[in-house]
Amino acid sequence: MNERHIIDHIAALTDQKDARLIKGIGDDCAVVAKDGRLVWLLTMDTLIEGVHFDPAFHPPEKLGRKAVSVNVSDIGAMGGRPVFALLAVGMPKTFDPSWFQAFAKGLADGCREYGCLLIGGDTVASPQGFNCTLTVIGEAMTDRVIFRSGARPGDIVWVSGQLGLAAAGLELLRRQLDGAGDGFGPLLAKHLDPIARVDLGRILSESGVVHAMMDLSDGLATDLAHLCKQSGVGARIAAWDLPIPPVLIEAARLTGADPEQWAVSGGEDYELLFTAPAEAHDRLLELGRQCGLALTPIGAVVEGEGVVLLKRRDDGAYEECEIAYRGFDHFREQAGG
Ligand code: ADP
Ligand code: MG
Repeated sequence: MNERHIIDHIAALTDQKDARLIKGIGDDCAVVAKDGRLVWLLTMDTLIEGVHFDPAFHPPEKLGRKAVSVNVSDIGAMGGRPVFALLAVGMPKTFDPSWFQAFAKGLADGCREYGCLLIGGDTVASPQGFNCTLTVIGEAMTDRVIFRSGARPGDIVWVSGQLGLAAAGLELLRRQLDGAGDGFGPLLAKHLDPIARVDLGRILSESGVVHAMMDLSDGLATDLAHLCKQSGVGARIAAWDLPIPPVLIEAARLTGADPEQWAVSGGEDYELLFTAPAEAHDRLLELGRQCGLALTPIGAVVEGEGVVLLKRRDDGAYEECEIAYRGFDHFREQAGG
């Protein structure tokens, strides 16, 4: 059983019916009717020591902010804004108070920056390492919420920012190569302290041209497969259109990695992945400029299922690889997962 099977199993066993419930398990947030005009958006994410962060190189203040950003990112991915948060922390009995105080400062700063109030939580001892779970509650206009399920054949697939940066930053930090090259700062920051694209998400939702949207937490290959499955469509992505900056290529050369692999399968970029009709092209480029973010068309939505990556070979021919769910999975089986 991998992560997807576990979630599907829980979803199949539990009731998802309530007149107020607009969307339960399966999107970036649960969506619950608040009044006719507004909905509540609810999301939760956990950071575990040794899985999501390594205290040897993750400054606690940045980790605290990251705990907020990764949650708020799911609110932004549906076009909403964060309002409230609840924090559960599990602390080893021997925790270092100054480490925790720095974490708490980062968390409080993050809540302030994104405009949400921490209104409760839970505090427990953890037998091994530090962990925290944040629940964020946001709100959005009922008729502006963007789901994963709205993609239609003929839509263009877009991403914000650049891909693979967080995976590259993590690899540099793990190998203690973070000081090895000029300009690695954005790669390191993307892993240590990502920025949630809340303003962009809201502007895209208000534009009315976006059909489907989600944030990129598990990598393009897995997240686009989720979006396609929810929409009942497939997608074809052009490898040569992926937004890969030169600094990523330099980091890949230094570590012996494949930059395209980072861009396709690397998780934690927290950029927005969305689809829109071809006519919206110029409008979307303009909206990206307004937010100071590059928006890049990387492929198309097609009828059918699956996610195909098109590559151009040296002899000019095209190669097609099926990449659905080739991103991060907490429980990937070693063979055929
Ligand atoms: P994201 O990467 O956007 O945070 P996830 O892949 O973690 O989304 O989760 C996908 C969907 O499954 C979401 O709707 C989430 O709320 C739901 N989900 C994940 N884990 C569980 C669980 N243990 N129980 C119920 N729902 C879950
Ligand atoms: Mg998400």
